[in-house]
Formats: sequence, structure tokens, C-alpha cells
Amino acid sequence: MSVDYIVIGGGIVGLATAWRLQTMQPGYRVCLLEKEPEVGSHQSGHNSGVLHCGLYYKPGSTKAVLAVRGIRQMVQFCREANIAHEVCGKLVVACDDAELDRLHKLEERGRQNGLEGIQFLGREAMLEREPNVGGIAALRVPQEGIVDYPAVCRELRRCVEANGGDVQTGARVTRLEQLGGEWVVTTTKGDFNGRFLVNCAGLHCDRVAGLAGEKRETRIVPFRGEYYKLAETAEGLVRHLIYPVPDPQFPFLGVHFTRLIHGGTEAGPNAVLAFAREGYRKRDVNLRDLFDAVTYPGLWRFVAKYPRMTALELWQSLSKRRFCKALQKLVPSIRVSDIEPGGAGVRAQAMAREGELIQDFCLIRRPAALHVLNAPSPAATASLAIGEEIARKILSEK
Ligand SMILES: Cc1cc2nc3c(=O)[nH]c(=O)nc-3n(C[C@H](O)[C@H](O)[C@H](O)COP(=O)(O)OP(=O)(O)OC[C@H]3O[C@@H](n4cnc5c(N)ncnc54)[C@H](O)[C@@H]3O)c2cc1C
Repeated sequence: MSVDYIVIGGGIVGLATAWRLQTMQPGYRVCLLEKEPEVGSHQSGHNSGVLHCGLYYKPGSTKAVLAVRGIRQMVQFCREANIAHEVCGKLVVACDDAELDRLHKLEERGRQNGLEGIQFLGREAMLEREPNVGGIAALRVPQEGIVDYPAVCRELRRCVEANGGDVQTGARVTRLEQLGGEWVVTTTKGDFNGRFLVNCAGLHCDRVAGLAGEKRETRIVPFRGEYYKLAETAEGLVRHLIYPVPDPQFPFLGVHFTRLIHGGTEAGPNAVLAFAREGYRKRDVNLRDLFDAVTYPGLWRFVAKYPRMTALELWQSLSKRRFCKALQKLVPSIRVSDIEPGGAGVRAQAMAREGELIQDFCLIRRPAALHVLNAPSPAATASLAIGEEIARKILSEK
């Protein structure tokens, strides 16, 4: 049987897209193909669990627009579906005068992005909220919070299936062919036919685009993010979310503290180049992924342009003491014995041939396909808005 839409990838973006396609076009048939036994097995299930609201992003960029819209939609979705979440607010902490200047710019950017209720806190007001934080001032962003993203993925799957959609897990897409006006999608679970293809394959989105005949202009370069968790005895050091002022060039850099929705507090993640796209442990190596990365000129240009950043992140990955030092910038009293190894996630970061990281979300529309070629943080928060945008793009250009 041929369906109207085939969505590849059962992460939060693919699931939200499948659901939005159904709700914006009732009666249309959607089939979602996921290679793992469960949905949300990669980035969507290995992240910080934070609801980001679009404070950092360039005004007018797709990321800024969809993040601001997306957090409202996500909070409402969680409220209605009874999914664990908490809008606890976040502090972005400036530690010196240079960061203070950037903090003011960030405040202005937040306002330009339409965020309400952002508060500038001097040191005393900051300490009232987070008594153990270092630094000289902070921005409080009240609408941010924490959430159970794996539960969001499970609920989205339920919604897609309740609307008559077909979610196939254990179905890795290995070949794409256009025959007689429709796609024939070969998977490890058999063939599936559909009129329109949506590629939401996360860490493998560039490869899936390649299978569909796209030239791989950008490449996914995997950056592992490693976490520590606070020992029980150190839990009291952090009340909510504590973030550093981001480096505009690498907004995802800078370890932070995140309270988890089901208890405990995480510290991290760092961002170290990984030897496998699904390499959650330091020792994980995938020869195909490694070959793909080292034969891409963009990676070498990136390393040559940013050797300090690359080396520091590697050092931080190898040395607990160094990781702790980075955390002490935000919470000076934290000690090496206060942190224990935690989990890890791998970011699907698109990189251009010139070695630049693509910052914005990247959605490429083709006559019978749409490829999501970059959906880094905060794409989990913004997933419902991204799904809506994808459906709108498909419908408006029909
Ligand atoms: C360490 C880390 C921390 C983060 N923290 C946050 C945060 O706090 N808040 C936030 O909003 N965002 C955060 N993000 C970003 C967020 O997790 C991602 O942007 C989001 O999950 C992307 O979703 P996705 O569906 O595009 O990708 P994924 O969740 O990776 O899903 C892609 C799916 O495609 C499947 N797939 C791939 N290839 C194939 C194939 N050939 N056939 C079939 N299926 C295939 C994969 O198995 C996978 O399930 C974080 C990311 C990381 C890594």
C-alpha cells in the first residue's frame, strides 16, 4: 500500500512532523520508519532535557522563530498529555566584565525575539535564587524549564498511531528510489511506498539525503556531549538551571547545571569530536563514520581554525579535574568528589565545507521530498513548531 508521506526517523522531530502532517491534513496517510526498536533512541533520548526558549539565537532566524513558538507548544502539549515537566526558570550567569557586556546583549536579543519577563539580576538578587553561584550578575529567563523528552516521544508516537499512522520500528532505510511518481523505500523490514518523503534522520540525515540523490553539501560531524552527575551530598549546590554566557561562535559550548525532571542534577555536557555517530562511550569507533569525517575537508578546516576549542574540549573529556574546573566557574565551591560520571549524547551538527558549523535549522524542500539537514539544540524543545513548519512548507509549495 502506498501512503501520502513517509517520514524517516523516529526522533522527536520526525514524530512531531508525522503528527503535524496528520493534523494539518486529516485523512492523509503517514508511515514513519525508525531503525531502532524504540522511538527517541538517539539525540531525543540522550539530551539535557531542557526547555529552551530562544534567548540565544539571531533574531529572525528560523531557530529563533521556531524556538520561541516551540516552547509554548511543547509546554502546552506536556500539560495536556500529563507529561512530567516543570517551568522552573534558568539563570545565565556572567562571571566577568566581558561576559557582562555579552549578557546585556543577550537580554536585548531575548527581547527582540519576543521573550517576556526576562530579568537582569545583580549579584545579590542572583544569590537569592542560586546561593552557590559565582559570577557578578545574571539573566533570569522565567519560561525555561525541564521535561521528560523520551515521554514526549512515546506520546507523539501514540498520537500518530491514534490518527491512523503507521510507525515501523526496527526498519532501517537502506535505499531510496523514485519509480512511477512515488518513492520506493527499502528497509531492513521490507519495502514501503509513498508519494512524499520527509528525512528526519538526525545523525544520519546527510546520508539519507544522499540516498535520495542529494549532493552532500554539508556533512554531519558528531560531537559527543558527556555529563557528570552531582553526588547526592552535593545536590544542594544547585536549585534549578545554571548556564554560562554562551560564546556566540559556539553557542552549544559551556558546561552547565541542569536539574533533571525525575530527580538528580547533571553537569555538562562538553562537546568533543566523536569517532562514531552513535558513539556514546569514549572508546566507540565506527570505521565508516570515522572515514566520512576524516575525508571531509570541512573537519580539517574546522580543527585548523579552532585548535584551542578542539583541544580544550578533548582535555575536558579526558580529565575530570579539568571538567570540574570548568564547572567551578559557575559554582566555585564544587569539588572533584562532588561529581560522578553520567551519561552522554551525540549531537548531529552540520558542518559546511569551509569548516563552519551551521547554526540555523536547515530544511531543504524538493519537489517530492523535504530534508531536515540540521536540527541541533533546541530542536527538541522546538520540535512541534519544526513539524508544523515542515508541514506548512510542504503544503504551501504543493
Ligand atoms: C548532548 C545533547 C544535549 C541536548 N540538550 C538539549 C536540550 O536540553 N533541549 C533541546 O531542546 N535540545 C537539546 N539537544 C538537541 C536535541 O536533542 C536534538 O536537536 C533533537 O533531539 C533532534 O531530534 P531529531 O529527531 O532530529 O534526531 P534524533 O533524535 O537523533 O532522531 C533521528 C532518528 O532517525 C533514526 N534514523 C537515522 N537513520 C535512519 C535510517 N537510515 N532509517 C531509519 N531511521 C533512521 C535514528 O535512529 C533516530 O532515532 C541536545 C542534544 C544533545 C546531543
